[in-house]
Amino acid sequence: MDKYDLVVIGAGPSGYAAAMRALDFKKKTLIIEKCSVGGAGVTNGALSSKTWWELSRETASFRKNLKRFNLQVPSINYKEIQAEVKRAVEERKNMLVEHIHLLENSINGNLLTFKKGTARLVGQNRVEIDTGGYQKEIVSTDYVILATGSRPRYLPELPIDEKIVMTSEGIETMEDFPESMVIVGAGVIGCEYATIFSGFGKTKVHLIDKGDRILPFEDEDIVQVIERNMENNGVLIHRNSRLIRMEVKHDRVEYELEYDDSSKAVFNVEKALIAVGRTPNYEELWDDTVDISISKRGIEDNDTQTNISNIYAVGDITADISLVNVGELEGRYAVEKIFGNPDRKLVYENISTIMFLNPEVAGVGLNEIHAREKGIDYRVVTLDYSCIPRAIAKRNTQGFIKLLVTNDEAMKILGMKVVGNHASSAIQAVALLISMDKGIEELAECVHPHPSITEGIQECVRMLLGKSLFKPEAMKGKLSCRTSINSVYQDIRF
Ligand SMILES: Cc1cc2nc3c(=O)[nH]c(=O)nc-3n(C[C@H](O)[C@H](O)[C@H](O)COP(=O)(O)OP(=O)(O)OC[C@H]3O[C@@H](n4cnc5c(N)ncnc54)[C@H](O)[C@@H]3O)c2cc1C
Repeated sequence: MDKYDLVVIGAGPSGYAAAMRALDFKKKTLIIEKCSVGGAGVTNGALSSKTWWELSRETASFRKNLKRFNLQVPSINYKEIQAEVKRAVEERKNMLVEHIHLLENSINGNLLTFKKGTARLVGQNRVEIDTGGYQKEIVSTDYVILATGSRPRYLPELPIDEKIVMTSEGIETMEDFPESMVIVGAGVIGCEYATIFSGFGKTKVHLIDKGDRILPFEDEDIVQVIERNMENNGVLIHRNSRLIRMEVKHDRVEYELEYDDSSKAVFNVEKALIAVGRTPNYEELWDDTVDISISKRGIEDNDTQTNISNIYAVGDITADISLVNVGELEGRYAVEKIFGNPDRKLVYENISTIMFLNPEVAGVGLNEIHAREKGIDYRVVTLDYSCIPRAIAKRNTQGFIKLLVTNDEAMKILGMKVVGNHASSAIQAVALLISMDKGIEELAECVHPHPSITEGIQECVRMLLGKSLFKPEAMKGKLSCRTSINSVYQDIRF
């Protein structure tokens, strides 16, 4: 029986990152993947959906520019777009696989082994691998990292067949743009697909939202911009509605909604996408000899360690945030905890996120909803994109920056949101300052390149210090600088 220092089950972003970090500690590592290296980080997930989003955004902007110059808009070919997404997925997957092969054959000692198969724990230190042959292989190991990820949540009452009624697993395999599509679930994934399909301009998108607004965890001002753009792009948002029936009839989808006022309505569309969350993959991952604590949301780990001391769990299989960067962070951290001593504690407060909407929304740290839920008083500045030369040059000034700091002398950064073009690249400086537990002065004095969106962040900071170029009292509607004490706003006067 082969013996390893570490066996990693699952080669998605979390497992891959864990295995690579184990090599830094010169540990004999086995990584097992049953399906596709890169997991949902690449296929039917983060990379593929972002390629769709980029292509949709480019198409929308191309259409807009052609119209501006009175030129005819050519027809978009679905198959070509789908093929481009496939090329992106293959490019990344091949790179990850090739990297593994190079390491397996490395002259610096064969520390890494990759096996294709389905793995299962058959003891605290034993892993069984089913490669589809007659005999299952069993290996022994000192440590195990479970990184088996998640899959779309299925609602048993919905007729999901991945052809007409789909989840994110099936949505990329359609034959053509549907003329209409209903999306069940107005969270991040549902809203991203609503943005993608409405952006191509070929599909009438319906979005079912059980609340009175999409993205319920997000601040009202941000949601307003996103909802307005979606509706301008033809998305029909069914607010305060509950799906009470969905059926496939004559290869189309009929669905019925009940609204909060008890009224009902029936709709008919070509396709449906169900985006109601993800379910962790832990079924059949261990036999009766192992008893790992789980909850409905996933494995209940303590700082990546399960209740069994040599077994760790990272990424989407655990009960916390499901993101590529979080999975990778946890994977690396678990290995450092096992074989070394992590430099810093694993904290989730300052994770940077992007929502791929129209426009993109990037954030780090707390938003106003979270700060208020935690009972934190804060100072908040907002600056409209129309005050930023780079946005003017781009001929697109839709968006704003919002920065939250503690309501005291120190003005420690609590969080930031950027809604608009280049949002994701703009937040990095602030993410770094938060992680270093720094105040805002550093940002105020740093010389930013011009013209850049980050100059807007600098202007926000200078507003908080009472030394901005534009004065909020003179530019109401474009700038604001306020305190929020017991959830009540008051303008700050210097
Ligand atoms: C549509 C969509 C869009 C997304 N967009 C983003 C985004 O923009 N940004 C972002 O940060 N995140 C995004 N995510 C989330 C991100 O993809 C996941 O958080 C991330 O992939 C989780 O990584 P993981 O390694 O924990 O799990 P996964 O990526 O799910 O990988 C787990 C791997 O384990 C394998 N496996 C499972 N069971 C076994 C077994 N028994 N034996 C062997 N192998 C096994 C699976 O085949 C899989 O390859 C998106 C997800 C979806 C679905």
